[in-house]
Amino acid sequence: MKKKRIIIGAVSSMLVLTVSAGTWYLNQPCLIYHDFSFEYGKPISITKEEILIQEDLKRIKDFKIDLSDIKNEKDKEYPEVGNYECKVTYSKWFIPHTSSIQIQVEDTTKPKFSKFSDVVEIPLDSDQNYDFSSYFLAEDLSETSIQYKTEEVDFLNPGDYRMMIIASDTYGNSIEKECIVRVQYEKETSSPNKSAENEEGQSVVSSDPYYVQGIMVVNKKHGLPANYAPQENAEAGAKIRQLIADMQRQGYAISSSYSGYRSYTYQSSLYNNYVNSYGQAQADRFSARPGYSEHQTGMAFDLKHSNGTLVETTPEVNWIAAHAHEYGFIVRYPSGKETATGYMPEPWHLRYVGDQASAIYASGLTLEEYLGISGGGY
Ligand SMILES: [Zn+2]
Repeated sequence: MKKKRIIIGAVSSMLVLTVSAGTWYLNQPCLIYHDFSFEYGKPISITKEEILIQEDLKRIKDFKIDLSDIKNEKDKEYPEVGNYECKVTYSKWFIPHTSSIQIQVEDTTKPKFSKFSDVVEIPLDSDQNYDFSSYFLAEDLSETSIQYKTEEVDFLNPGDYRMMIIASDTYGNSIEKECIVRVQYEKETSSPNKSAENEEGQSVVSSDPYYVQGIMVVNKKHGLPANYAPQENAEAGAKIRQLIADMQRQGYAISSSYSGYRSYTYQSSLYNNYVNSYGQAQADRFSARPGYSEHQTGMAFDLKHSNGTLVETTPEVNWIAAHAHEYGFIVRYPSGKETATGYMPEPWHLRYVGDQASAIYASGLTLEEYLGISGGGY
């Protein structure tokens, strides 16, 4: 009898062990992933195939993920950014189980520019509070803000300057893009009936621009009327920016900003400042009187070194002298030609002449010599 009791006891102990081992096995979580991450703006969807091991797919019944705690954005089909814990229920071998998964909704998408101006023209004497908002628009699912980095813009001097535009969304994603801010005089409104002398008593040109072989000539013998205000020539502007970009790509120390179009009024203030500082005779050697500046044509450009000064460094000057013609430009005031051009050498000053640039370059002549026209002093 004693023996039998022992056997029964052993058998029942084994049974208990087996049952508990089985229960332990059945209770094992059968979810393979507990953490899910979704990009903001997409609806949440998790299927049981993504969450259960293959063998469990047939055995598990009543599988359900409770997403009711996930709050959608107002009027939207996708949830707010955040972390959500969701209850998962199912039954395996008819035993109900509860587990949970973590769902993270995050925004890693950068805003996009839906409106962008590569060149923004602003009037001289604006400042960093200038309202650029009509030129740029950024879009994103969350709210975006735009920052204008105007550190490089000289609001008090006409020219082209670089500005970075940074659009950021609510979750710290941002995108940066560069544009050109063109600081310029506002378009001239002067009437052609103006008196023949300006306030400084200098003579004012009243004739139309002088053309030879299709090239507009401006030198000390041939001027432009005060109301001639064409702004920057679009073709020439595109070419000078291409030339600058090519130089930068090749590692030359050249600035993206340059000094291009100048109105009659602006040249007038420049010249008068020089006369006050250096005297008229000296000023005439390097600065044009108003109406006689090639910059008023919108086709002349002064290139700047990356340090902001006019280009005079040998590698840059040599490259410009050898390649400017490939872009339709000539170095207008070469050294040793002051009697022909009327100006001291200016290796930075380029004049757009288009197709004829290569022929002029090959001739080794100044524009005056090439066209056989008068130049030199006033
Ligand atoms: Zn110049």
